[in-house]
Amino acid sequence: MVLVLVSIFLIRAAEQWAVVHQAMLLSNSYLCLGEDFFQRIKPSPAIKPKLFLWNATLATELGLTEALFDDEVARAQLFSGNELFPNSTPIALAYAGHQFGHFNPQLGDGRAHLLGEVKGCDLQLKGSGRTRFSRGGDGRCALGPAIREFIMSEAMHALGVPSSRALAVVTTGEQVIRDRPVPGAVVTRVASSHLRVGSFEYFYAQNKLEQLNKLCDFAIERHFPQLKVFEGPERYLAFLDGVFKAQVNLIVEWMRVGFIHGVMNTDNCSIAGETIDYGPCAMMNSYNPNTVYSSIDQNGRYSFGNQAGIAQWNMARLAECFLPLIDSDEKSAQQKAMPLLTEFAQHYHSQHTQMLAKKVGLRAADGEDEKLLNVLLASMRRHHLDYTQTFDQLSDSLLHEPHERVDEHIEPWYSQWRQRLDAEQRPLSEIAEEMRKHNPRLIPRNHHVEAVLQECIDSGSAQAAEPFLAVLRKPYELMANTPHYQDSPEDGDRYYQTFCGT
Ligand code: AMP
Ligand code: MG
Repeated sequence: MVLVLVSIFLIRAAEQWAVVHQAMLLSNSYLCLGEDFFQRIKPSPAIKPKLFLWNATLATELGLTEALFDDEVARAQLFSGNELFPNSTPIALAYAGHQFGHFNPQLGDGRAHLLGEVKGCDLQLKGSGRTRFSRGGDGRCALGPAIREFIMSEAMHALGVPSSRALAVVTTGEQVIRDRPVPGAVVTRVASSHLRVGSFEYFYAQNKLEQLNKLCDFAIERHFPQLKVFEGPERYLAFLDGVFKAQVNLIVEWMRVGFIHGVMNTDNCSIAGETIDYGPCAMMNSYNPNTVYSSIDQNGRYSFGNQAGIAQWNMARLAECFLPLIDSDEKSAQQKAMPLLTEFAQHYHSQHTQMLAKKVGLRAADGEDEKLLNVLLASMRRHHLDYTQTFDQLSDSLLHEPHERVDEHIEPWYSQWRQRLDAEQRPLSEIAEEMRKHNPRLIPRNHHVEAVLQECIDSGSAQAAEPFLAVLRKPYELMANTPHYQDSPEDGDRYYQTFCGT
């Protein structure tokens, strides 16, 4: 009997070994950069890893081996960091960053391990243990914020906003100490890279220009290969221009869906123009540019309406790093870089206006249209109208006469808008259909995210998250379950606060 049990155990262990060791081949291009850029370090083992959330669609897109799909234990081992992918060399990246305007010369991955790359994307564990960048931190992540990152990043991706994604959440079987002991977890993030403004600031602050140049080449190769034709100072300026444009596109997308990042420090600002670091982020309900939810953002530095200004400030920090490479004379370097920053503001303004135009069914907006758009925003703000619902109702109203679903406070604006739509010379049904592509029916509302999180934590299962995720993955469609999650909170999230403490 004992022999049979031992044999079964051995066979099972051998099968699992095979599943893990044939999992997927990772590359790691960061290794070519050299030891200045990272620390080679393995994740700290988790006592009892258990798969909590799994993103099968993303796993398929990344080409994970089929065998892994059937083996929950193997997945828990791999995505907790207990087992490594066959040729993975885990590293913690070095970076600096301006946090709330103050420079910190050394931040780095204090609780994250970059396992390697697959299909041009980074595979990174977060909450996987201490590194030399951990300072006082425990290197761990609590389950709540890990689920939150999974839900929010998947929702943003489905909304069409550039974002890192989440492949898995694994509970570690250990408690982590936050304001009280809470379950620990590891979240697997997939991003087109983890290069941040802070990665460049790290070398600039140490006056390591050679490394700065190397990092720029690496970033160009990865994100802007079309810029490889440029040489010398032109190359740096073209790189800045590319990053700036990607950043404008990102912030405009945040503004389209009502996303508030909450902690736009330069270390959380991706060079690829993707949303990264889902900490204290939240969604705006009623329209107000001053909306802030993060408990540590007391002065509203990262409020909804400040995001473009802050992105520009972050881009100025990036440009600063390149000044010594652009020209040895600081003044002339500044003169060369400055127009790009001015252009950032202009480009944002025009992209933002065109984005709003599309939300109300206009193919393009001129000066007069801009006034019309501003009147709408001002009424929404004055009357505390819900951002998502208002645009949703406007799209609907074109298909239903009389348009009783539109809030009475925007009635005067509404007639003007309808007149303006005549000039589009398109059937209303076509305009409504076009508007639908720019106006989600569903966003990951804070009160629903929190309720789902709590249910998951209390029950120790991700079951409560599945129906929510299912509708969040089709945010432009009206699914059977959509209405359940569309409501704005009764108190307008007046007392809602988010926290960094992942
Ligand atoms: P974040 O607020 O997540 O952008 O993190 C800012 C910095 O603090 C980064 O260098 C993180 O790696 C580090 N950090 C945050 N939480 C922890 C933690 N629990 N343990 C170690 N380092 C952490
Ligand atoms: Mg961060």
